[in-house]
Amino acid sequence: MRETVFIGFGSNVGDRVDFCDRAVTLLSLLPHSQVSGVSLLYETEPVNDHAQPGDGWFLNGVVQLETDITPRSLLTVLREIERSLGRDEDNRSGPRTLDLDILFYGQRIIDEPDLVVPHPRLHQRRFVLMPLNELDPLLVHPTLQRTVSQLLIEAGKQSEVRLLFPQPSTRYGSRPACSPPPGS
Ligand code: ADP
Ligand code: MG
Repeated sequence: MRETVFIGFGSNVGDRVDFCDRAVTLLSLLPHSQVSGVSLLYETEPVNDHAQPGDGWFLNGVVQLETDITPRSLLTVLREIERSLGRDEDNRSGPRTLDLDILFYGQRIIDEPDLVVPHPRLHQRRFVLMPLNELDPLLVHPTLQRTVSQLLIEAGKQSEVRLLFPQPSTRYGSRPACSPPPGS
């Protein structure tokens, strides 16, 4: 059955825009799936770190995908994409070329050792809630029973999250439903 899935992506090392672009492109090429939304890119202060802007800061965004791929297969696919874009498996908490998380899978609630959906920390992370709020502010979190926009208000402001400016023009040209850049 086709479901609406939200996938968070983030990169904080190397050519971050390029990694994000490639991730979105690979997601848009998945079989039995269609990308129905891509957020703008947000620049995020790393948690537990006092780095300067641009130094270790994350780029984050969210992709909305209509898909028939099961949650478990999707997790496998996301790990393969992370691996193909060079994430260092031995240093998972260090700098990461690309992190991909299943944020929501329709209204499903999954609680397995290696797969928890909705993502257990999404309601605490403004860098996830801001792009989600752009795509679907009225989406209801199935266990917290709050909309994304309510969660964003309640999350408070622990870390700096701002729109990346200027937004890059994508080099891969396959973003089907990209939001227009600010001010256009
Ligand atoms: P985080 O994304 O929380 O910063 P990691 O990317 O290092 O941390 O964690 C990856 C692990 O989290 C994977 O091994 C995966 O099995 C597990 N995991 C549990 N739930 C999810 C989810 N909803 N999306 C992605 N990975 C998940
Ligand atoms: Mg992850």
